[in-house]
Amino acid sequence: MQTPMIDYIHLLLESIGEDGGHVASYIPELAQANPDRLAVAIATLDGKVYVAGDADVEFTIQSISKPLTYALAIADQGLESVLQHIDVEPSGDAFNEISLDPDTGRPRNPMINAGAIAAHALVSGEDADARVDRIVDLYSRLAGRSLSIAEDVFESELSEADRNMALAYMLRTVGKLEGTPTDVVRGYTRQCSVSVTVRDLARMASVLAAGGVTAEGERVLEPEVNRQVLSVMATCGMYNSAGDWLTSVGIPAKSGVAGGLMGIMPGQVGIAVFSPRLDAHGNSTRGVRMFERMNHDLGLHLMNASASVSTVSRRVEIDGCSVHEITGDLHFIEAERIMRGFEDEPVGDAPVVIDLSQVRRANDIARRVMLEGIRRLHLDGHEIRLVDPWGVLGSAETGNGELVRGEQARGGYVPGAFANVASAVRG
Ligand code: GLU
Repeated sequence: MQTPMIDYIHLLLESIGEDGGHVASYIPELAQANPDRLAVAIATLDGKVYVAGDADVEFTIQSISKPLTYALAIADQGLESVLQHIDVEPSGDAFNEISLDPDTGRPRNPMINAGAIAAHALVSGEDADARVDRIVDLYSRLAGRSLSIAEDVFESELSEADRNMALAYMLRTVGKLEGTPTDVVRGYTRQCSVSVTVRDLARMASVLAAGGVTAEGERVLEPEVNRQVLSVMATCGMYNSAGDWLTSVGIPAKSGVAGGLMGIMPGQVGIAVFSPRLDAHGNSTRGVRMFERMNHDLGLHLMNASASVSTVSRRVEIDGCSVHEITGDLHFIEAERIMRGFEDEPVGDAPVVIDLSQVRRANDIARRVMLEGIRRLHLDGHEIRLVDPWGVLGSAETGNGELVRGEQARGGYVPGAFANVASAVRG
């Protein structure tokens, strides 16, 4: 069988219809782009990338670089320090607007050029070149391959960078720019000139969708940094159409003037499209349309609210033991439901078996709530027999069912660990 995903994305390209708008021309080299290029890529969190169209054609990343460099600035300087330089409010302005807060002098957000230039300058590095190297290195780790700079686009853009230069000098006058404006704009322009394909962008998006971890398990961004970046993309990523985007498409995204567009459905998938003609906001015309279609067809809007507690928790009596069988991923709301099952446990010394063999993941808060519930059952007099072969409540050796007891021990309680429910019931 061939997965229907492949047919779906080919069909999407075939049916996307007429193009509109114009290729960006304020950067002379971009005006040379073939306007008919069209590509889409969808990357799952476990590393599968579906592509269609011109998926291996390279183009420059342009403003899609902004959230990534912002992430590195936060990782280097800490969020507080970055917030002192760059605000997080949607500006409602065009990308190159000279939009600084009149009271604080901070650029409104890191997705407009003023904020992106300030963010570039906050990245650590011995000199301007070292800063760019670190930035390209981060992009490469996110893309899963070594990326390079399109020198022709870089030269072309730098020769027309007067406006960005003006922004940098202005940022310096208000104390929001570290470093020499010419060096910073040069570095920022190099960052915008990194060559990527939709495949690369989708893969980058999938790492952000996974909270900063690659499909191979490498942590590239800390969870708090990743969350900050996604939040700013959601509110400010699409220039002056950010509100329209959030309501109609509903996922964090960032577009670039070369025609790329990258979107992230947190916890699910990374998506990228490429089509060089831009609408009046500077976003890829067909790119926006493809996103609207995909998000509708695949139900990816962040605000699609549904009452979904995915966990099933069932209490059964087996040979005098009370067994709580739990299935599904655990977040706060699932843990809350499990606590209600624990609450029904009569006070006494009957052994309680907690069977987590059908649970593969628990986030931090779910883990803490679960451990607290276990501690309380223990205080009520119960002997707790934990079946946690995947180690979701702590660091466990998978495979043999033996728990390593680090996390539980820290909570003041060391449970017995059993390979399966039958051995837990037997004690
Ligand atoms: N390098 C471009 C600029 O600074 C990026 C703009 C964009 O992609 O929107 O003008």
